[in-house]
Amino acid sequence: MKEFCGKPVSRGIVVGPITLLERRDSQVGRRKTDDPAGEIERVKAAAVKARQQLKALFDKAFTEVGEPGAAIFEAYGTMLGDEEYLNAICTVIQTEQVNGAYAVAVAGESFAEMFSGMEDDYMKARAADVRDISNRLIGILEGYKEADLSVDGPSVIVADDLTPGEIVQMDRDNILALVTVHGSASSHVAILARMMNIPALMGVPLELSRLHTGMEALVDGFGGRVIFEPSKGEREWARVRMEEEQEKLRLLESLKGKENVTRDGRSIRICANIGSLEDARLALENDAGGIGLFRSEFLYLGRKEFPTEEEQFQTYKQVARMMGEKRVIIRTLDMGADKQADYFHLGEEKNPAMGYRAIRICLKQPDIFKTQLRAVLRAAVSGNILVMYPMITSVEEVQRIYALVEEARQELEAAGASYRIPKQGVMIETPAAVMISDELAELVDFFSIGTNDLTQYTLAIDRQNEKLEDFYNPCHKAILRMIGMVVENAHKHGIWAGICGELGADTSLTEKFVRMGLDELSVAPSMILKLRKIIREMSVS
Ligand code: PEP
Ligand code: MG
Repeated sequence: MKEFCGKPVSRGIVVGPITLLERRDSQVGRRKTDDPAGEIERVKAAAVKARQQLKALFDKAFTEVGEPGAAIFEAYGTMLGDEEYLNAICTVIQTEQVNGAYAVAVAGESFAEMFSGMEDDYMKARAADVRDISNRLIGILEGYKEADLSVDGPSVIVADDLTPGEIVQMDRDNILALVTVHGSASSHVAILARMMNIPALMGVPLELSRLHTGMEALVDGFGGRVIFEPSKGEREWARVRMEEEQEKLRLLESLKGKENVTRDGRSIRICANIGSLEDARLALENDAGGIGLFRSEFLYLGRKEFPTEEEQFQTYKQVARMMGEKRVIIRTLDMGADKQADYFHLGEEKNPAMGYRAIRICLKQPDIFKTQLRAVLRAAVSGNILVMYPMITSVEEVQRIYALVEEARQELEAAGASYRIPKQGVMIETPAAVMISDELAELVDFFSIGTNDLTQYTLAIDRQNEKLEDFYNPCHKAILRMIGMVVENAHKHGIWAGICGELGADTSLTEKFVRMGLDELSVAPSMILKLRKIIREMSVS
């Protein structure tokens, strides 16, 4: 076990101790039992314990978010007491003579499927609740602990897979690099790594059981390899490479304070993508022209309950103040797909990328959306804040959003709060939005093209699916033509258009983007000066 190759999804080289993240096994084993009565008693005891946990969650949610937000835990408690559900579990134990956890998995799934097959949307949605309850019971029966995310000091995080929520929960000063067995380059974990400037490798064929926390690793995020227990020579190589990189960065430093202007005078804004207040510091350090994409959903990840309006207001206000006169574009909540938080109860979906996510959640659960909108409107008083909405597919959606913005405004007015309605834009990240960009341009103040999702939906490729990575091509002619069409429609209607998807940082396309007339590129902070260098050396003519 020494050197392994993987996909380099975020550049950089580090050497340091590893922290192996402990995960629980999601497969429930089927074990024969000769004491079915005992297993039934264990399931009943687990149900009592689960109800106590749910009661505690209800009480906490009740004080923090009020009755409507807490009601789900009460409903779960009631479901757990449902005789039919418990009887079905006992029947599986008795007839198959198997362990309780397995019986819960089988009976729970058949209940969930029964709910999903129902006509009524409300009943359909209960399938996810049954799965949640069953998982809770299984967790108690199998003695699962929450994944251990504690990291003692700076280390290379090694795991089978990671979620954005897990990254957000870790202390970022402790993350030297990420190395995972699974994961795709366009996943949000990879995007986060690039935004945070942390070297990362994915798809590394590791046998985790042969590693242990504390052993040394050299991660080469350029060449795509990790070396465990590197030799003296390998460490020396890493030291020299790191120095070379430092030197390149020093050369780029001289570009700070300079404009992003071509030799023949065409200029373009280069902004930063961020997911937190800490990232805003990186944006400033790299001389960003502003924040072109603040992925606000990261404020919702890695926690147990919704961030309050006040919490959000404080974060947005601090980012805006930090950026001074520079603009900060807050992208409203884009949850769903790989960005999950249990308390949203989004449930399992067969096709999450095409599912209940982003603006769809906001329009269906307007209370969540309006809490965020009120926070944004209040923070807009303190700086140059703009707001944009993700996953738009129609003019009607924008009109519904505006109606909710107006409701949020009236609520603030009634409460005597100070607020300002910021300029509003939409993300162009569905083929539908591209095709109606002429109509959308009449409604909004700007466009920001989300090439990550636009590629996913145009090429019909799930961006999370690591098997399809060879097919995921954001430089596809279709995408480039779409970008051209969006820019043209934006300019025809007197609004600006930028790119905030990862393609904006593709240095092989920078010249093309400037020629296409894009007004803004928003990229990971570490890419800003690299793009500036290219732009200053090119001429449009
Ligand atoms: C995009 O889809 O290109 C985008 C910027 O949004 P996200 O990657 O967060 O989905
Ligand atoms: Mg997107």
